[in-house]
Amino acid sequence: MSIIRVHDKQFEPYLTASEINARIKVLAQQLDKDYAGKKPLFIAILNGSFIFAADLFKELSIDAEICFIKLASYKGTKSSGQVITAIGLDTDLFGRDVVIVEDIVDTGKTLNEFLPQLLHQQPASMKIVALLHKPEATVYPIPIDYLGFSIPNKFVVGYGLDYDGLGRNIREIYKLLE
Ligand code: 5GP
Repeated sequence: MSIIRVHDKQFEPYLTASEINARIKVLAQQLDKDYAGKKPLFIAILNGSFIFAADLFKELSIDAEICFIKLASYKGTKSSGQVITAIGLDTDLFGRDVVIVEDIVDTGKTLNEFLPQLLHQQPASMKIVALLHKPEATVYPIPIDYLGFSIPNKFVVGYGLDYDGLGRNIREIYKLLE
């Protein structure tokens, strides 16, 4: 692995494909154990999590369902400012064991605003699996139940994550070279 360029910026190697895959196997084993006999519903948040969600889901041995949603944010009419809503959530969450699949939790803003909407549907349980977390960037603390890697507060691309649309198809994760 060497330095790569995406658009106008340079990125240096950070996590190899085999490191990512090994970590995903461990997460899948934990999920297999914790959800044995439960038929959980995985909800993957697009776009960034599509590769992680697919790889994680392939490693599971338990019966499980998966659906994909996109989040849209727009200015609300109330003082709270941005409102985040799900596009494509057509499954009833009532009584389900839900597992949210995120690529990366940065400030925590997205999940902080979105999770209450899901909880409103009264799932039996709701946990979060995230591939990456930037603890130093936390503004809204989010309990991440299954975490791939804690990373420094640097911009990363690859493995589903983009820089202005590009870089999602890179098999490894690279971080911004400064
Ligand atoms: P948060 O709401 O937690 O601040 O941000 C979450 C979203 O911001 C992620 O789902 C992702 O789309 C984007 N994001 C945050 N950090 C990075 C990063 O380092 N690289 C990329 N490509 N996206 C990021």
